[in-house]
Amino acid sequence: MNNAYIKFYNYIIVINGISKKYVDLLLMTKKDFIDLKHFLAIPRNIAVIPHKNADGDAIGSVLACYHYLKNQGHYVRVVSPNDYPEFLKWLPGSQDVLRFDLQNKQSKRVLNSAELIFLMDFNEMGRVGDDMQHTMETLDTTYVMIDHHQQPSAVAKYLYSDTSICATAQMFYHFLEQIGDVNAISKEIATCMYTGILTDTGSFRFPNTTPTTHRIVAELIEKGADNARIYDSVFDQNTYGRLQLLGQALQNLVVIDAYHTAYITISKAEKLKFDFQKGDTEGIVNYALSIKGIIFGVIFIEDEEQEMIKISFRSKGSFSVNQFSRNHFEGGGHDNAAGGRSRENMEQTLKRFKSILIEYKEILKKSYVTI
Ligand code: 5GP
Ligand code: MN
Repeated sequence: MNNAYIKFYNYIIVINGISKKYVDLLLMTKKDFIDLKHFLAIPRNIAVIPHKNADGDAIGSVLACYHYLKNQGHYVRVVSPNDYPEFLKWLPGSQDVLRFDLQNKQSKRVLNSAELIFLMDFNEMGRVGDDMQHTMETLDTTYVMIDHHQQPSAVAKYLYSDTSICATAQMFYHFLEQIGDVNAISKEIATCMYTGILTDTGSFRFPNTTPTTHRIVAELIEKGADNARIYDSVFDQNTYGRLQLLGQALQNLVVIDAYHTAYITISKAEKLKFDFQKGDTEGIVNYALSIKGIIFGVIFIEDEEQEMIKISFRSKGSFSVNQFSRNHFEGGGHDNAAGGRSRENMEQTLKRFKSILIEYKEILKKSYVTI
């Protein structure tokens, strides 16, 4: 038995243990990986898709997949539901990404002619947004879903889901292991994967950053990923406005000691005042979680485009923000990082949040003690 097979065997057991709780999912078997490899033996028309408001892991994963398939001789397009942050646009291949909202006809043509569609870093079709979801629902094609979020829905024929893995970009590495193509990782692919892992692990600090993650990342550096340069491109290209907005956000921080909770608000007017650009609020929620004694951090951001309050939840330890968001704020994600939304105004949203929090007082206390 070779190494790759042993790894595969291990994770399939782990996945079954976790996912059976939710849905009877048909997870990819060794035979599925082989079938897919056979399907990819001749040039195909392929589309690769991240979720709406894509982050570093979503864009890193789709571009890694894009370069890999293109290098194998396929005709590949990445279709992003909408724009993504400026600090990801230096990634190789970013200039080739189609925007479904802007280049709608061209995107639809690509999707309609795709023989295979990769869905990366999301677990349900709704995550591409209403417009794109409507188009996807009319397609008669084969889907491959590669994702690490909890409670995936069974939309794909080929589902590779593992909620224990820190980033979809790392899963794409394992995907290549399964189809025996790790040697095909070029400098571009390594750069995209590294970026996905770097951003989704909070620069390798979250608990799901494992020895395996570090081994993979070491290999990606050997294959040409320039770690210092990637960090600089992602995190050290701030605008003055972004730092001013961060200053304002920190001024707005509210700590509720009794609940080990802290939250931040950012209003429409504040975004306007500091020349808000997409991606400027990324990571700010972590400041709430960085306070001593806080295990639940939240940011509420007024989103004029979608006429709602966009919410990010973060936690430390056993308090599941995935469940909290699913139960109260139409969202989901991971145990320690989830997103959600509120259709009420800021004042009403905060009022509701604080009243819900009361129900969680004991759970939060317990989670704090066991951390
Ligand atoms: P963020 O707060 O950064 O938007 O999201 C945190 C994590 O939760 C990310 O991995 C993101 O993909 C996921 N996420 C955000 N919103 C949703 C949602 O509405 N549903 C699900 N299932 N996941 C979400
Ligand atoms: Mn991710």
